[in-house]
Amino acid sequence: MRKPDMINIKTTAEIELMRESGSLVARILKIVREAIKPGMATSDIDKLVEDNILAVGAKPAFKGYRGFPASACVSIDDEVVHGIPGTRKVQDGEIVSVDVGVILDGWYGDSATTIPVGDIGEEKIRLLEVTEKALRCGIAKVRAGVRLGEISFAIQQCAESSGFSVVRDLVGHGIGRQMHEDPQVPNFGDVADGPILKTGMVIAIEPMINAGSFDVHSKSDGWTVVTADGKPSAHFEHTVAVTESGVDILSLLPAGQPNNVC
Ligand code: MG
Ligand code: MG
Repeated sequence: MRKPDMINIKTTAEIELMRESGSLVARILKIVREAIKPGMATSDIDKLVEDNILAVGAKPAFKGYRGFPASACVSIDDEVVHGIPGTRKVQDGEIVSVDVGVILDGWYGDSATTIPVGDIGEEKIRLLEVTEKALRCGIAKVRAGVRLGEISFAIQQCAESSGFSVVRDLVGHGIGRQMHEDPQVPNFGDVADGPILKTGMVIAIEPMINAGSFDVHSKSDGWTVVTADGKPSAHFEHTVAVTESGVDILSLLPAGQPNNVC
């Protein structure tokens, strides 16, 4: 049984610092999206991410986390999350999930996107659309006074009504001075589940949606999570703050620059 949640409340000033961390991640994901092409090694993606983190004096949050060896998680097709960058080259027709975490002035930012490479075909196009929509549906529920389960339920409903499934083994999380804080943020569940959201809570919402069954397992590298049936999986994530009137997405590009989530 889990111990009761200890959910940290951030001040307005702290949330502004977290916006700096989040917007750095957004900028790096944009750079990756623009650079990615067939033939690019996943280690090249990692280098691009790491160079851009270090260039502004931030630290890669993932590198060294429980021994993870890289600054980005790069997960292709049936790889759900936590793919370790290496010599594998991105191919035309693949979907590439890139998850980036940074620490800037002591505050974490965490965001992920799944990037189509070349002609990915009908099923993967729909999978990306639905996973991004599921994230939007979850974010749309965020507001002080609402139970966390409303977010989970909205994401699950969005994915399953489109014929896809929600990964059960991995969830979103609170975030702040630590990468993983309370509460856990499942992408499935009932509206009556979880704590009541309060102004100043900051959470990372991150649906992982599979084209086939929700079963996953870890590869022998100890990190990479893959679908059990070999079908593709997509992952989108934003760091968001709970406000009195709704939600403030922190992992966006600065105002005036086009973002991939409304
Ligand atoms: Mg992440
Ligand atoms: Mg996360």
